[in-house]
Amino acid sequence: MKKRTFGATGAIILLLTVILCSCAKSEPHSASFQSMDTLMTVKVYGGDSDLCDRLQQRIAELDAQLDATDENSEINQLNQKGTAKVSDDTADLIGRSLQLSGELGQAFDITVYPAVKAWGFPSGDYHIPTDEELKKLAARIDDTAIKSDHHTFTLPEGAMLDLGAVAKGYAADQCDTILKEGHAAAAVLNLGGTIRLYGKKPDGSRFSVGVADPDNPAGYFGYLSCDGGTVATSGGYERYFEKDGKRYIHILDPTTAKPVENGILSVTILCDDGTAADALSTALFVMGLDKATEYYRSHRDFDFIILTDDHSVYLTEGVYDEFTLCDGYDFHLKKVDR
Ligand code: ADP
Ligand code: MG
Repeated sequence: MKKRTFGATGAIILLLTVILCSCAKSEPHSASFQSMDTLMTVKVYGGDSDLCDRLQQRIAELDAQLDATDENSEINQLNQKGTAKVSDDTADLIGRSLQLSGELGQAFDITVYPAVKAWGFPSGDYHIPTDEELKKLAARIDDTAIKSDHHTFTLPEGAMLDLGAVAKGYAADQCDTILKEGHAAAAVLNLGGTIRLYGKKPDGSRFSVGVADPDNPAGYFGYLSCDGGTVATSGGYERYFEKDGKRYIHILDPTTAKPVENGILSVTILCDDGTAADALSTALFVMGLDKATEYYRSHRDFDFIILTDDHSVYLTEGVYDEFTLCDGYDFHLKKVDR
């Protein structure tokens, strides 16, 4: 009798262990950390148990190479010396950026750094340059003048690179390799406004991504439902300063070296390619609504959600039916056709 009771208890314990283990398996591993000057959160379903650590290490490695403000980074060394041999990653990202810059025209240029510095964005020591300074700064923005020989890059006189507009998207793409190698089933990587949606969630549900409310960036004005890809948002609210009641944002128009002021509050891009998503979010912000719409109509491999200061939300065909406005937001949703 005693023996049978023990057997029944053992069976119950075994059953509970199996249930708990299978629940634990569908629960994601997650980690939050500071990198690329922002808070990142990674959530991984299935695969090796150390995947979150490996993702964090890979992003930290990229940050150490790409951060223009870090004196030891490859980009900082290139900016200081004017010429430098760089690693595979850095060469790869400069190459991709130049290719994207060629497609995006004057809205996107990785030689904006002297202008970004002149406004004081990296240091937080803000300053409004004079018209004369701005003219000189704008004249120096030209990434077509960068020379390369394999991994050695040479910058034109006075030029400095800033990969801030693409680094997080590139990091998102690089994380795919780690997730594949570690056999992850799915992952949601929030790299500070650039969100990589990888694989298929174990419960079969779709991914849902909040789009930040520029008036309250910790909250969302709506949700986008999707099956994967990268969702990158650029917003004036992310970094800015105010002087005499006027707001100066960290996204600059390369033709004027001035912060963009065109009625756009945020641009969200959905695209499979993370580097492209990140470059597009910055570039379409600079282009403004009409040119961004034109660009979308001639390039079919991405979707956008553009929020303007009159509370209109412009959504392209691929995301219009997948977007849900949150309660309490009296925004007008407008469909952008192909
Ligand atoms: P965030 O980094 O806040 O997510 P973005 O991806 O839009 O935002 O990148 C903005 C950063 O890119 C700026 O802080 C600056 O370093 C750089 N940048 C600003 N304007 C441009 C531009 N027109 N082209 C390329 N890089 C830019
Ligand atoms: Mg960007």
